[in-house]
Amino acid sequence: MSLSDAELERYARHIVLPQVGGVGQNKLKAASVAVVGAGGIGSALIPALAAAGIGRLTIIDDDVVELGNLHRQPLFRERDAGYSKADLALQFVRRLNSFVDATPVQERITSENAPRLLGGHDLIIDGSDNFATRLAVSDAAVALGIPLLSAAAVQFQGQVGLFRGRPCYRCFVGDAFDADDCDNCAELGVLGALTATVGSFAALLAINAIVGVGEDQAGRVHLFDGETLSWRAIRIPADPGCRTCGSAQG
Ligand SMILES: [Zn+2]
Repeated sequence: MSLSDAELERYARHIVLPQVGGVGQNKLKAASVAVVGAGGIGSALIPALAAAGIGRLTIIDDDVVELGNLHRQPLFRERDAGYSKADLALQFVRRLNSFVDATPVQERITSENAPRLLGGHDLIIDGSDNFATRLAVSDAAVALGIPLLSAAAVQFQGQVGLFRGRPCYRCFVGDAFDADDCDNCAELGVLGALTATVGSFAALLAINAIVGVGEDQAGRVHLFDGETLSWRAIRIPADPGCRTCGSAQG
């Protein structure tokens, strides 16, 4: 795979970085990423990934835009109310970067359809807003052997973690949330600028992981406190009794 003159010009400020270079930009171009959720986190994440030149983006969201989304979802406009988020995100990506091959999927992820919708990607990024989806995505990621970047934001708290095999996201949160299908944002509130911070951080972590910049972040969760404005990282121990990764790759 090589970069055209137009791509070399577009990505010049990436390519000039010693940590990226033409080799790194080609890795981004070769990458296939599934994004679950075109909401608040997706509104920062999807533009950043598309602008960075991720070659193939699948955008999965079954929801339509509501006015109550707009304080944290600048991917959309007032006139978009009632329209599919996945389709609108696709239009945004096409206008931003025609080198990106983007596919919208208007389906709600479940444990049944997750393997079909997520299979074939190099990386899955979950920016959904409920535990049922997060756990279905995580279980499928482990089964498919695809790394999962999980990002979440509620009130003033954010978290971003990369999981590759074991430990998995379920080791982190346990089984208690399987039946919990609440919309955290609707019930608890979330600051719009927080979801943007978390989504941008997730995009940076994803790009670093694809290009191979810095230390491997697998098994580590980054926590952000929007009141004290500070990040800290914790290591997640593998849960010996985890029903998802307990018998998977050691
Ligand atoms: Zn696990």
